[in-house]
Amino acid sequence: MVVRAKKTKAVKVCRECHRVVEGEACVICGTSNLSEDWAGYLVIIDPEHSEIAKKMKITLPGRYALKVR
Ligand SMILES: [Zn+2]
Repeated sequence: MVVRAKKTKAVKVCRECHRVVEGEACVICGTSNLSEDWAGYLVIIDPEHSEIAKKMKITLPGRYALKVR
């Protein structure tokens, strides 16, 4: 499921896994390599049965960005 949403300035995403990060570090990678320049809000509910999750190598449910610069 791809949800189009307006980019909010405060929202950051992980450059490694594209996960939307609340705070200063990614909960999955543990990296602080974050970007505020991203597009396409993606909600993964069931990664095992989601084609887009497979393409993006997402294995955990959550909120992700489609494109991260
Ligand atoms: Zn990450």
